[in-house]
Amino acid sequence: MDTSRRNFLAGITGAGVAGTVPLLTQLENPESQTPTFRQGTADYKGPNVIIIRFGGGCRRRETIEPDTTYAPYLLNTLAPRGVLFKNMMIDSLQPTQGVDTSHGQGTIYILSGSYRKLGNAGGDGLAERFVPSAPTLFEYFRSAFNISAHETLVINSEDRKQEEFLTYSNHLRYGIDYRCQILSLYRYKRFLYPRLLSQGTRDGQQLSPQQRDQITKELRELESIDTRLPTSKNEQLQGFWERWQAHYGETGFKNPRGDRLLTELALRSMQDGQIQPRMMIVNYTDCDYVHWGIPSHYTTAVAIMDQGLKQIVDAADTLPFYKDNTLFVVVPDCGRDNNPFVDVPFQHHFNSRSSHEIFCLAFGKGVENHGTVVNDVVDQVQIAGAIGSLAGFETHDAETDHLANYLA
Ligand SMILES: [Zn+2]
Repeated sequence: MDTSRRNFLAGITGAGVAGTVPLLTQLENPESQTPTFRQGTADYKGPNVIIIRFGGGCRRRETIEPDTTYAPYLLNTLAPRGVLFKNMMIDSLQPTQGVDTSHGQGTIYILSGSYRKLGNAGGDGLAERFVPSAPTLFEYFRSAFNISAHETLVINSEDRKQEEFLTYSNHLRYGIDYRCQILSLYRYKRFLYPRLLSQGTRDGQQLSPQQRDQITKELRELESIDTRLPTSKNEQLQGFWERWQAHYGETGFKNPRGDRLLTELALRSMQDGQIQPRMMIVNYTDCDYVHWGIPSHYTTAVAIMDQGLKQIVDAADTLPFYKDNTLFVVVPDCGRDNNPFVDVPFQHHFNSRSSHEIFCLAFGKGVENHGTVVNDVVDQVQIAGAIGSLAGFETHDAETDHLANYLA
């Protein structure tokens, strides 16, 4: 990014730039204490940003290739509205660095615009919990503007609790003060279970001592997964979950499951006047059930995601808060292997070329080049810089924002 642009951005973001926060204050502020909120002061006048992680690992063949797609809405309806990068790669910039192609990692590359080595928050193997070491889009955004935590959302799957750790980086100049919030069934249970125990009923039925013990045990387990949740509750999210509870009850059997649940959480947050996220990533996941080796798990999940995408875009096209003022970015976390002769096809952990081969579709506010297909090789870590550029905030540690040049 050139100097004049940096100066321009410094001008419009004003005093809220995170670099002004003394390092010592950050270090003295462990999460066990009530967090202080040092979000930016400038009013945000840019577009809402919705990132759809077309994920759980999704390769080009079942998405952007017309003869084999399971995502007709994405390809035939949405692509003409924006710019389709057909040759986006993971790791084209640093092919010797051994960048992992997986879900938490890909999500962090998208959000931070960096392949910098990831921090670790415990867990191991496939359950390893990563923490970004470069600031995320949410942190840049909230440090620059007067945006509250509940206006920046990650929508997560219940099955990927290790991704509950992606709310903020361990970067010393950003971090917890600028974190986003998460909507997931995991978060709902953390809200609900203490309530069930104090009211002594579930969906109007008295809890037996055994049921109480069971709920207590489950709550302990849930709490042990993410001890980082701050002690002070987020008022807006409490309200969101109260309305969810009133609508879907307390058993967990009435709400949609899997990726359809993620769509429902995203839609309800957009429709909820108390939430209305200005920046959101929806972390679709169910394609990943193909790890068990059944190809239809994958293709069905792509189709369900495509329908979820349509519902979210329809909502953004209709709701006054989002209409004509929302930038969408659709991108997989990683691709998948394309060798049909291996024992278990469709994996993504073995550094195969097609697990690095993804795509990206950008459309909506700020994207003027409708119906453009870009064949140049571009990279997943270039997305964050482009979003910052279109939304008008700095992304100091992200790769170049030059992807934005293709959009308008
Ligand atoms: Zn996987």
